[in-house]
Amino acid sequence: MRIILLGAPGSGKGTQSQRLVEQYGIPQISTGDLLRAAVAQGTPLGLEARSAMDAGKLVEDRIVLGMIRERLAQPDARKGFILDGFPRNLAQAQALDEMLGALKQPLNAVVLMEVDYGELTRRISGRRSCTDCGKVFNVFTSPADPAGTCPVTKTPHRLFQRPDDNEATVKERLKVYDEKTRPLIDFYRRKGVLYSIDAAGAVEDVYERLHSALEHSRL
Ligand code: AMP
Repeated sequence: MRIILLGAPGSGKGTQSQRLVEQYGIPQISTGDLLRAAVAQGTPLGLEARSAMDAGKLVEDRIVLGMIRERLAQPDARKGFILDGFPRNLAQAQALDEMLGALKQPLNAVVLMEVDYGELTRRISGRRSCTDCGKVFNVFTSPADPAGTCPVTKTPHRLFQRPDDNEATVKERLKVYDEKTRPLIDFYRRKGVLYSIDAAGAVEDVYERLHSALEHSRL
């Protein structure tokens, strides 16, 4: 299965990817996670990406495409992948088409996760991630179980809020989504691989809709 989850920040791409990883046994490839790791490690690439990320703007295509090319070449991506947060503009989508064409690995489905603006901002303000395992929680909709433990540290999850999940940056990120990423909906619709789901509501209910869209895409 080669899947793209398309949707605004806060639409639940990361959360639903975690479920898909368990169900289909394919890796989640999140350019946001790859970039945050590069920033945390202080690599030259991370240093270059950081100011765009802090401002809620897109990181340069050259950087993101280099990361994706390298990640897709790893052995675990051969059986499939879930792209989360990539592509984010038409140039990236076209470059991805070329990469997958060369690998003879066409996309099975692009799932558009639709959530209204009010719900997006509420979800983003409640989002928390585990410092050690990266699992994403939400203080409103899916809080960490106080009795649960992190698989990495075997102690309770140590939660933090992403620095770009503040009000001003979120506003910019949603604007960037509208201007740069939304055109991908038509791009993939024309290719006949687009499925839209209502991504509002409980995580489990959204997963049901996502799963049935993906099963349908295999028919
Ligand atoms: P995300 O975790 O997907 O919300 O991404 C966080 C930030 O990383 C974004 O606001 C961008 O600054 C940057 N980013 C992530 N993915 C991409 C991408 N495909 N193209 C450009 N910038 C990206």
